[in-house]
Amino acid sequence: MDLELREGIFVLDEMRNVSIKIGRIIDEEEEKEKEWEPLGPTPKPHILDLRHWDRRLLERYEPIYAPMQDFCNLCTMGPCELSQNKEGACGIDLKTQKARLVTLACLIGASSHTAHARHLVHYLIEKFGHDYPIDLGGDINVEAPNIRLVFGIKPKKLGDLEKVLDYVEQDLVRILHTTHTGQEEDHLDYESKAMHVGMLDHVAMEVADIAQVVAFNYPLGDPNAPLIDIGFGVLETEKPVILVIGHNILPARNIDDYLREHGLEDEVEIAGLCCTAIDTTRYDPKAKIVGTLSYELRAIRSGIPDVVVTDEQCIRADTLRECSKLGIPVIASSEAAARGLPDRTHENPDVIVNDLVSGRAKGVLIRDPDKVGEIAVRVAMEIRKKKGKKPPFMSEEELKTEIDRCTGCMNCVFACPHNLRIDKAMSAAKDGDFSVFKTVEDSCIACGRCEQVCPRDIRIVDVIMKASYDSLVRKTGKMRAGRGPIQDTEIRNVGQPIVMGTIPGIIAPIGCPNYPKARNEIVEIIEEFLKRKFIVVSSGCHAMDLGMYRDEDGKSLYEKYPGAFDAGCLTNVGSCVANSHISGAAIKVANIFAMRPLRANYAEIADYILNRVGAVGLAWGPYSQKAASIATGFNRLGVPAVVGPHAAKYRRAFIGKVWKKEDWWVYDIKSKQRMYVEPCPDALLVVAETKEEAIVQLARLCIRPADTYMGRQIKLTHYIELSKKYLGCLPDDWHLYVRTEADLPLKMKDELLKILEEEHGWKIDWSKKKILEGPIRPYDSGFNPTILEEVFEKYAR
Ligand code: SF4
Ligand code: SF4
Ligand code: SF4
Repeated sequence: MDLELREGIFVLDEMRNVSIKIGRIIDEEEEKEKEWEPLGPTPKPHILDLRHWDRRLLERYEPIYAPMQDFCNLCTMGPCELSQNKEGACGIDLKTQKARLVTLACLIGASSHTAHARHLVHYLIEKFGHDYPIDLGGDINVEAPNIRLVFGIKPKKLGDLEKVLDYVEQDLVRILHTTHTGQEEDHLDYESKAMHVGMLDHVAMEVADIAQVVAFNYPLGDPNAPLIDIGFGVLETEKPVILVIGHNILPARNIDDYLREHGLEDEVEIAGLCCTAIDTTRYDPKAKIVGTLSYELRAIRSGIPDVVVTDEQCIRADTLRECSKLGIPVIASSEAAARGLPDRTHENPDVIVNDLVSGRAKGVLIRDPDKVGEIAVRVAMEIRKKKGKKPPFMSEEELKTEIDRCTGCMNCVFACPHNLRIDKAMSAAKDGDFSVFKTVEDSCIACGRCEQVCPRDIRIVDVIMKASYDSLVRKTGKMRAGRGPIQDTEIRNVGQPIVMGTIPGIIAPIGCPNYPKARNEIVEIIEEFLKRKFIVVSSGCHAMDLGMYRDEDGKSLYEKYPGAFDAGCLTNVGSCVANSHISGAAIKVANIFAMRPLRANYAEIADYILNRVGAVGLAWGPYSQKAASIATGFNRLGVPAVVGPHAAKYRRAFIGKVWKKEDWWVYDIKSKQRMYVEPCPDALLVVAETKEEAIVQLARLCIRPADTYMGRQIKLTHYIELSKKYLGCLPDDWHLYVRTEADLPLKMKDELLKILEEEHGWKIDWSKKKILEGPIRPYDSGFNPTILEEVFEKYAR
């Protein structure tokens, strides 16, 4: 019997002993969802559903583990010594334990973004409702590439984001479960789980960013987003200063609203550190950015802020102690960092303001972001009236006294992560030469470790900053406000040249400020690629530091290079969570340009990106677990990353063995053959020790098997030129990437053909300057590579 039920009340009379089972109710929205694209093979993938793809990657890019520590004390059967092939009491070996720790680090990072996303979505739904539309404008039709690719829906309203987060949270918990003692015994299974976490992280970041972009009217993919003042010296210290620190815009936005609603925006300075600063300037371009995490101690110790408001992530765990020493009240606003402060969310603001201004309370916890604005502004104004003007950091006399107390014992140098020669700077300063302090300041991450070991209790950080104050305040510049997603039209314009290789690559500087040397190295690295017409797309702390330095004409990189997603342009997508727009751009190339199906089709899209899209991440100063998770998410998507030397402490890299021919195979859909290819990209995660090495690695990692001969020629030209320029020699592997004489850089063709003949034994027809024998494979313009059987079978029919 067919029974058609329509909307309304229906009555089934006269029916006895009939049980009616109602399956899942499909609503109109779900019906429509079916229409936009057929569902791919892996909607909401479970933790093992993409294991086959991970295994394929990990066969080629075998994890290499750094010997950071070789014991484990995660459970009470330990501590267990795991060196020299020993196993823990639970049976785990060193490799698997390292992979477990990597998974844990990624879980911490992804959970931070996910909790942030949940907080934002929850807040925005309360304010604007479930049905508030996700509309990124006509130029951005593929609004959420990560969500479409992984979860398999096209989110249309804020409420849709909740179910995406439900899925992410569930899988994060499932993977956390796997890190309990006595679970996996193969390190590759943990690595696969770390990759799953990284992928989920990009989904969560996308949720967070598109929610705030649509609800708070941030720039919508605007290449001409406003230029923002950035740097220690941009603060108007004559005004009361509110310093906001962290990653969650909500309290800072409320402060900004309060200032505007009360006509105080020109009376009070709101400035930020880290991603809260970036997002505040997306909301209000008049807000200012002091800098990255490495500016936190600088900013607080200067004594300039009148009140400090913290939210979550990458905030020093001594913020309250440091502020209290200087009488700066702290307003903590996040459940993630309550700082031991009393919860005064529901108290009368007059009482709270009074307590903070009088010093009766060093700080308060206000959990409702909507209540922070009034309190922060009123406290800043009152404190400023009270405190008057003091010299930043210390007086000249105090500086001299502190310097004179130094004995040159070098304890500070050994404690410093960069072994900065504070002793020498102190000694030179005693003779009136402060220039060494300026050099120290350039590389100092203001971690304060030196102070902890100084037997004379010298306020070393304050001394460094005071002694180099002139240059510290001169480091100011402009950063283009985070523009959010890349437009579909931009992807259409650059898709073909990226895949052909004629745009030599996309470089994505996306990391923290734990740099190995001077902070301006990141500018030097990136400008090299901008001049060479690579696309540069940045986010987070790197995006800030790229704007911090001016050239001799007084221009920062954002003023010199346009903000489009195009060759020779510098795009800032926004804060950490906007990293999802960078992975999203790679996904969109596969979908919009190559028309590969996107919906729930992760492995195919990642395989496409790995083989065709010459995109590489750069995390030059990585330190956080979020950076670990973001990079691992990029790796699963087929995007390699170059990381600075401190990243060795993440414990593992993914480096291919270029000499193992059997690792470098693909299926060619055109010829229907399985064949060997040149080893590109030859790593998924690689540590560079110096900026010179990083530049050369970045250029090489843009090479892809599907490059056309024109593209390969351009990429090889950059690779060889950069190696000669920065390392003083030809790279030792350039010949591996040559398929035909047309791949060779034009200016060096004869020289390189000669080397191929003489040093590598290739056969050359000199009358035609043609390669007759030698390459790993011949060039084929229709070459269509994949490393996935299912993709091969799908397209090679
Ligand atoms: S988890 Fe295993 S290796 Fe670690 S302490 Fe416990 S028993 Fe030892
Ligand atoms: S504060 Fe600066 S000088 Fe001191 S240990 Fe940290 S990086 Fe080194
Ligand atoms: S530890 Fe203190 S006393 Fe020793 S060299 Fe450093 S600043 Fe001077």
